[in-house]
Amino acid sequence: MGMTLTEKILARHAGRKSVAPGENIWVNVDVLMTHDVCGPGTIGVFQEEFGAKAKVFDPEKIVIIPDHYIFTADPKAHRNIQILRQFVKDQGIRYYYDPDFVAGDGMPAPYADPKKTPYKGVCHVALPEEGHTRPGEVLLGTDSHTCTHGAVGAFATGIGNTDAGFVMGTGKLWLKVPPTMRFVFEGEVPPYLMGKDMILHVIGDISTAGATYRAMEFAGQAVEALNMDERMTICNMAIEAGGKNGIIAPDARTIEFVKSRTDKPFEPVTGDRNATYLETRTYDASKLEPTVAQPHSPDRRALARELTDVKLDRSYIGSCTGGKITDFVAAAYVLKGRTVAIETFIVPATTEVDAALDTLKVDGESLRSIFQAAGCTIGPASCAACLGGPHDTFGRANAPLKVIATTNRNFPGRMGSKDAGVFLASPLTAAASAVAGHVADPRDYFDRKTPIGTGD
Ligand code: SF4
Repeated sequence: MGMTLTEKILARHAGRKSVAPGENIWVNVDVLMTHDVCGPGTIGVFQEEFGAKAKVFDPEKIVIIPDHYIFTADPKAHRNIQILRQFVKDQGIRYYYDPDFVAGDGMPAPYADPKKTPYKGVCHVALPEEGHTRPGEVLLGTDSHTCTHGAVGAFATGIGNTDAGFVMGTGKLWLKVPPTMRFVFEGEVPPYLMGKDMILHVIGDISTAGATYRAMEFAGQAVEALNMDERMTICNMAIEAGGKNGIIAPDARTIEFVKSRTDKPFEPVTGDRNATYLETRTYDASKLEPTVAQPHSPDRRALARELTDVKLDRSYIGSCTGGKITDFVAAAYVLKGRTVAIETFIVPATTEVDAALDTLKVDGESLRSIFQAAGCTIGPASCAACLGGPHDTFGRANAPLKVIATTNRNFPGRMGSKDAGVFLASPLTAAASAVAGHVADPRDYFDRKTPIGTGD
């Protein structure tokens, strides 16, 4: 019997010819990622279970990347980074992206020159940029949105600190093989539609529990047309439907992207033609419209045009879901020559994206200049207010605000105050809403004839 893409990767990493959904298997791990929030806890589990002087299974296969609570005066956040720093030194871990400006007491200054610091920013965007995300591999991370990395055709999923401590010591994990749900997007991608609209449509369709412990495989002409940023946005939110992992079969675009980022060899995997899927859902991308998830759940789906009477206090364009280069190009097309009506925060996911704000242009004007002229406030690369964070976090909703955000989760308190209401949307919709001061349909603010997310 044939296997799905997810099953084939897991079988290969279990040293078996085949696996079937529901089987429990030992899986060899290619990359273990942790960050400043979960890293100290993972290290604690590892040292408790394997010994204070134990060595990690492979210092080349562990990536430690502080990204969450960076630009804050919070001493506990600084302490977390100091723990990571010491561990990396003791263990000889090669891939560590230190925010070296966080030193001593007080508030760190934003990086002056990204080239002079190893700091990168949000893990799920920085790992692909740095070549750690490769087709056919198993990548585990202590972050629920680790499913993002399935966009290159890897098996990638979030794990807790206890599992991660075990992986740190052994390089293996005991996993149950998930059954696969297939989501096929047929038709042409309309100019106003983004990966965010597509995944919000799916989650609205199946609910936040609709793919619990299942692989979510995305396929079809419209998915194949998307660039890597957009594919990452779709896979990133698999967890918001309860998915174990999100995955897209690697194609020529994937291979070109990964090879441009690393010299490490990798073996892409594709699913068998006769694979068995638990369920297949088919959508016509050409008929989808700009989509929003209302507070307080990613499955509270509505169309942007149905919510124009919702007045907003803030627009937030950032995070691993909505702070990539494609996201800011999209926002710039809407914001060019316009002024925002509400406070609008721009947070690049990584230092590479931040640098691109100066080099990429829309109609001859840099993205940074467009955002500044529109009245936006641009912050340093990090998770910033996507997860709320300490009280002094950039863009944090410290009051019961109504926020439209390109982030991925809108449970109460997610961006700060538990009384704030967060509307999840694409960067096109978030930018159009920033100009309007209420939820807005980007089609009224945008006249491009080709979709932004299909170019490289
Ligand atoms: S940007 Fe948000 S969703 Fe992404 S890793 Fe950071 S806190 Fe998590």
